[in-house]
Amino acid sequence: MPVTSETSVEVRDLTMSFGSGGAGRRPTMVQVLHDLTFDIGSAETLGLVGESGSGKSTVGRILVGLLKPTGGSVRLFGRSVTGADRAANFAAVRSRVQFVFQDPHAALNPRIRVGHSIAEPIDIAGKHSRRDRDDRVRQLLELVGLPRDSADRFPHEFSGGQRQRIVIARALSLSPDFVVCDEPVSALDVSMQAQIVNLLMDLQDRFGLSYLFIAHDMTVVRAIARRVAVMYAGSIVEIARNADLYADPLHPYTRALLDAMPRPDPTRIRPRTIPGEVPSLLAPPSGCRFHTRCPHVMPRCRDESPRLLEIAPGRQVACHLFTAAETTEP
Ligand code: SF4
Repeated sequence: MPVTSETSVEVRDLTMSFGSGGAGRRPTMVQVLHDLTFDIGSAETLGLVGESGSGKSTVGRILVGLLKPTGGSVRLFGRSVTGADRAANFAAVRSRVQFVFQDPHAALNPRIRVGHSIAEPIDIAGKHSRRDRDDRVRQLLELVGLPRDSADRFPHEFSGGQRQRIVIARALSLSPDFVVCDEPVSALDVSMQAQIVNLLMDLQDRFGLSYLFIAHDMTVVRAIARRVAVMYAGSIVEIARNADLYADPLHPYTRALLDAMPRPDPTRIRPRTIPGEVPSLLAPPSGCRFHTRCPHVMPRCRDESPRLLEIAPGRQVACHLFTAAETTEP
């Protein structure tokens, strides 16, 4: 999508490497993200999907400032948070960017009352008097569908779905504009998943929130995302509008992910898993990283890494099946 004044997040050529190796071993750098480029518009949800180990959560942690990338740029609300003024610019936008973790049990301190957990960011920001802060906490609890007196109780008194509502209330405490939701429903049962997804969509409608919604479950992403980016082994292999991606997936990996989705029709025989395994980032395959699992692999796929190209408005794919023209001899 084109960058406009309404663009909340602009990511360009983002790379991330981590050092690996134990005591006595020479450290090696493992590149976990490769040249990611995408935008998230105001009040938009971008779904980020892929198998475990694809690098999705690393992207989320970079966008909220928990990790510093090794290359590329990130702009939040027009401010660079990866350049020389990274710290100052992050401080300026910090209250506008929040994070909802996967595990609501781990996200809440079991010894602290719920009200205090939600009030923590408000106290750190120092914008409210104590009385206003307590009112705000109770309003937030109502907003996420919990009774006001939940503030006086401890996390263990709530179900998993209720705890995730508390985590969302805390994320909203400073009225953010952009929220990274990292697998926010994967620890919940299916009925709770639907409730939390509906809550997030309702909050987006009310407050114009932008989301990066990270998930491995294509069904959940379909319900909430306007656009979807598919990641494989640290790279984005396809970006498309929700309807286009689910109706007509182009990249072989996207097709495999959709084929692996649960189907309500028992007569439809489809594979439930993708053959092969996600490659090790310590020794990734040459060329296209998906070539070891791809049913359409061609000789060039083993040597040349496909670039993410726009093949239609709003539609980008990284696959040699869609770059055949580039190799055509004159
Ligand atoms: Fe398959 Fe080749 Fe496309 Fe990779 S580039 S997804 S191996 S066809």
